Amino acid sequence: MVIKVAIAGPRGKMGREAVSTVIKNAEFLLVGLLDSKKQEETLGDNIPIFTSLTELIEETAPDVLVDLTVPSAVYDHTITALEYGVRPVVGTTGFSDAQLDSIRNLVEEKQIGCIIAPNFSIGAVLMMKFAQTAAKYLPNVEIIEMHHDEKIDAPSGTAIKTAQMIQNTRKEATQGHPQEEEILPGARGANFEGMRIHSVRLPGLIAHQQVLLGGDGQLLTLRHDSFNRGSFMSGVVLSIKEVMCQNKLIYGLEEIIL
Ligand code: NAP
Repeated sequence: MVIKVAIAGPRGKMGREAVSTVIKNAEFLLVGLLDSKKQEETLGDNIPIFTSLTELIEETAPDVLVDLTVPSAVYDHTITALEYGVRPVVGTTGFSDAQLDSIRNLVEEKQIGCIIAPNFSIGAVLMMKFAQTAAKYLPNVEIIEMHHDEKIDAPSGTAIKTAQMIQNTRKEATQGHPQEEEILPGARGANFEGMRIHSVRLPGLIAHQQVLLGGDGQLLTLRHDSFNRGSFMSGVVLSIKEVMCQNKLIYGLEEIIL
């Protein structure tokens, strides 16, 4: 069966890569594109562009909506897609916990698959998993995530997801000196259950993360680098196929590849 795919955010850095990946894949048919503004009627192989998701769905009947847009738009897109029985594959980061809860509830009601993947790169997912295992033995953890300077949300969805996974295995620990004082606000990074997350934004970067786990006289560093956006596309392809077989919310590719 050919899977009919729509992509939101096709002019973006991730969206452009996803459009060409989906067009090249014989198992997929790209039926429509959702953009924030209509600069032209079609893109690529005459794929129609819409600025309204409901119109896109009504006119092209996609099976899957791949969202690679912005934090302010992705929640509405995901809810609308689910309401219409279209399965979301979401790469956009920046969901709040409350938004994730309401998406989970709607997925349960609709009984269709929905994949939210803070990181589509298989190597990054492995880094998160290894960090989760290591934190059982080395509970002092600092995460340094580094991204290009056009990224809007901080910390990254990958860093938050890493911290959430580590939290499942890490014994509660107070990190740093009990009387430590920030001379400049933010110097110690964001506090996630005692772990610290530091966000670097610089031109030239794509998506990089280190998880530092300190112990007596030792430091374990886990590092992953995405050097180009092609690194995310195998995860996008996997998610489009997998979401068709699921009837629940998958939050993080580790739920399907590990
Ligand atoms: P980007 O280059 O800024 O692209 C975002 C695109 O979304 C822009 O073309 C923007 O158009 C469009 N857009 C904004 N609002 C929209 C709306 N309401 N409807 C349709 N399109 C809309 O960003 P990017 O680097 O491609 O990243 C996109 C998202 O993916 C970000 O949240 C990023 O954090 C995430 N990301 C995820 C992964 C992963 O593995 N999961 C990897 C990399 C990035 P305008 O600018 O014209 O408004």
